[in-house]
Parts: sequence; structure tokens; C-alpha cells
Amino acid sequence: MKEKTDVPCAGTKKQNKKVDIIVPCFNESGTVNLFYDRTSEAVETIDGYEFSFIFIDDGSTDDTLDRIRNLVRVNQQKNDSPGTGSIRYISFSRNFGKEAAMYAGLRASDSDYALIMDADLQHPPQMIGSMISRLEETGADSCAARRVSRKGEPKIRSMFARLFYKIMNRFSDIEIADGVVDFRLMSRRMVRAIVNMPENQRFSKGIFAWVGFDTCWIEFENVERIAGESKWSVWSLTKYAIDGFIDFAVSPLKFVGVFGSITAAGSAVYMIVEIVKTLILGKDVPGYASTICLILFFGGLIIAILSVIGEYIGRMYLETKGRPIYVEKESNIDES
Ligand code: UDP
Ligand code: MG
Repeated sequence: MKEKTDVPCAGTKKQNKKVDIIVPCFNESGTVNLFYDRTSEAVETIDGYEFSFIFIDDGSTDDTLDRIRNLVRVNQQKNDSPGTGSIRYISFSRNFGKEAAMYAGLRASDSDYALIMDADLQHPPQMIGSMISRLEETGADSCAARRVSRKGEPKIRSMFARLFYKIMNRFSDIEIADGVVDFRLMSRRMVRAIVNMPENQRFSKGIFAWVGFDTCWIEFENVERIAGESKWSVWSLTKYAIDGFIDFAVSPLKFVGVFGSITAAGSAVYMIVEIVKTLILGKDVPGYASTICLILFFGGLIIAILSVIGEYIGRMYLETKGRPIYVEKESNIDES
């Protein structure tokens, strides 16, 4: 028999607070059942809380959706077990990405707390009890997990991730802790604030920081995924980093402005020097090579500046279309 973890409640007497566990799944056939078993087992020992699952099938091409449907069926059959909450799911019409999946889960959540977790057990379910305790003790609105090591992760990925957070924190208005993962418990009011940000191109790590509220941190050692493979390629991670940066920083626009002005000022000085030289020393015919160099340099510079501006305009264009963040194919959630 397992011992119950005693989680202190904010009030004097214990109430059954509800927690929705939101799980984005993309081709997680090999992990989803194991995830459910291990997580249900871990939360069973937490007293005073009722846990429900919201699985988001992000357009999986394997049998992840069948497995989720099966979990729902089995759970409905044994709905007599105390403390076992419901299993809800939403399946997307195609792969919209983890950001969209997290948003869909938060939108569907109606409990006191929402907890986002990966399906591959890289976010240890045994930490849920401590996360709830910390949240209740500190009175914060969010308890986020932070990896203190990146053991098992490719070195090059860790290096770029660290660099990304350094640049992000230096040049944007928000502060994102190094090692922060999308394993986060949030209060209802924080969830509401996030859901009310309908932006199409989402970067949740930035959104969590942007909405504010107090966050308490809980640290853990990196765990390798239980089965399957990471869905992130070098290209998708690079794109994610650029998108995240552009979503929360307008400093590149300021930078190109300053750089352009400095270059323009430099060329004005050069022009004056050349005019004075011509007036004093007479016409100087040679200079073909330097002219070509300057043309190429300024041509390249203008294209580079335009492409930075273009990145922002492109995002504005996509945002103004007002397309939905995801398209639902099926779900067992009653929208009414
Ligand atoms: N995921 C998703 N949609 C995607 C990619 C990933 O819902 O397009 C889910 C995936 O199923 C997992 C979580 O996001 O539950 C984290 O993905 P992954 O393990 O591939 O990322 P990593 O841990 O390598 O950062
Ligand atoms: Mg993973």
C-alpha cells in the first residue's frame, strides 16, 4: 500500500481541488500508455486533488489516437475507482505543432489548475506532488520545472539552447530561465490570461513569462525519453528559436535602424572627404575597385536590412489572416 503525500492546502480544511493534466502527443504510440499508467500511479498518492487528463493528438500518423481512444474507453469502464478523473482528448486534423497542442489543452481546461506535461516521461510524474505543494506553499500562480543538467542531450543542441536563452534575455523584454521546459503547473487565472492571447504564432515559454504572475521553480535532472524519438530536427529547432525571438523582441528592427544610420553617416563623411580631395587635388579617375566594393557592400546591407523587416512583415501578414491556431478533427469534449 502506497503512502499518501500530504499536500498542504491554501485553506484550513482540505478541499478536492481539480487538476487537468494536458499532454501534447505527436506520434507517441510507444509512450502514451506508459505515460498514462505511470502518471496515474504517481497522482494516486496525492491527497486532496482530483486529476483528469486532456490528451491532444497533434495529427499523429501512427496509432496514438487509437491508443488515446482506448484509454478513454477503459477509463469509462472502470469509472468506479475513486479519485480517477476523466480522460478528455482533442485530435487535430494535421500536425499543428506542440505550441498549438498546448494552447488547445489550456483552452479545454476548466479546473483549478492546469499542468502541461510531455508524453515521453521526460517530465517525471513523481514531481507533480512537489509542484502542487510548492504552489500552495508559496501562493504563486505557476510552478515551473527547470532542468539543471542536459545530460543525454546532444552537446550541440545544449550549446545552441544556452546561446538562444542568453540572446533572448539580452534583447527582449522578457526573461526566460535557462533550462526551463514546458512542464508547468498553472492556476486558473494564469491559464485564462494565456488563453486570452490569441496570437497565431505562439512561443509559450515567452507567453508564460509575458503574462507575469509569480512563478516558483522546481529543479530536476534531465531524463531521456522512454521510447520513440524527439520530434525536433536541427532545422525545426532553429526555426523555433528564430520565431520565439521575433515574437518577443523588436530589437533587430532597432538594430538595423542604428546600423543603417551609422553606415549612412560613414558614407556621408567619405563623400565629403572625396569632394574636398577632388576640389584640392583635381579629378581622380582610378577607383573602379573601391566603387564596386561599396556598391556590393551597400547592396548586401540593404537586402539584409529588408529581410529582417520582411520577417516581421511576414508574421504580421500571417497574423492578420486570423486563422485558427488549430483545426479539430475529433474530440470527446462537449463544447457547449
Ligand atoms: N509534440 C507535439 N507536436 C509536435 C512535436 C511534439 O505535440 O509537433 C509533443 C510530443 O509528442 C511530446 C512533446 O511535444 O509529448 C515534446 O516533444 P519531444 O519529446 O519530441 O521534444 P523534446 O523533448 O526533444 O524537446
Ligand atoms: Mg521529449
